[in-house]
Amino acid sequence: MASPMSADRLLKALRAEGLAVVEVDEWRTNNRNAHGPWGPVHGVMIHHTVTSGTADTVSLCYHGHSSLPGPLCHGVIDKAGTVHLVGNGRANHAGLGDDDVLRAVIDERDLPPDNEANTDGNRAFYGFECINLGNGNDPWPAAQLEAIEKAAAAICRVHGWSRRSVIGHREWQPGKVDPRGFTMTSMRARIGDRLGTTPPPEEDDMTPEQARQLKELHEQRRVAPWTYKGELNRDAWAILNSAWSKLDAMHPAELTDAQITAIADRLAEHPTLAAKIAEQVAERLAAGPAE
Ligand SMILES: [Zn+2]
Repeated sequence: MASPMSADRLLKALRAEGLAVVEVDEWRTNNRNAHGPWGPVHGVMIHHTVTSGTADTVSLCYHGHSSLPGPLCHGVIDKAGTVHLVGNGRANHAGLGDDDVLRAVIDERDLPPDNEANTDGNRAFYGFECINLGNGNDPWPAAQLEAIEKAAAAICRVHGWSRRSVIGHREWQPGKVDPRGFTMTSMRARIGDRLGTTPPPEEDDMTPEQARQLKELHEQRRVAPWTYKGELNRDAWAILNSAWSKLDAMHPAELTDAQITAIADRLAEHPTLAAKIAEQVAERLAAGPAE
């Protein structure tokens, strides 16, 4: 479970992945939040537009049309690989899909067939509309495929998701065929490679001292995975590990009260480690919600 990124955080993540990003008009406040929930978010959905022409497509995805109000996605990926941000929040892109698919995405398992339309996808998925006629003949330029890979990976990186959190519309909603012209299996493989080999974006909003402390704590985690001086048990470490990944993604607000209490209880006997953790958490909380 993850809280949706803020507009700033999304923009920063996409640019950190090396993407050219255009901010379209009032994209930061263009959403359907008054008409339904947005979040918790669980994945990224890829579409094709069945259109051609960047300007017309971006406008369509921003405004929507008479039977489907915009935004129709969060970002439009054009043939040259530029991402045009058109929405931030709930967007009309995923529609109703299969609850079994959503469960598989959350668990990061192989996807079951999408044979039900019983679950609101617009609250749970970031969406990218990729400019393509979807007729099987319109080519997918390498730059566009690379941008799809980068955009999905950027979001996965922030939320700590794997490639399995990225699906095609056709894997979500019965009857949908998009994206057509490449396989989602091949795209997920690319995303997995990128997530595995590209260093995470610089945490440039941390002070050097915070970065040093975080690195030290990472090191501690690495060298003492299940025990800290023989004192932490496996359960405690699993809880801590989950906490760290959320802190790394700067989403301390996602820690549940139960997790916080469990951490506090387990660490009550370990003042040095507890003090370091408390310091990190306090700094992140003082910094406000993740941007
Ligand atoms: Zn679609």
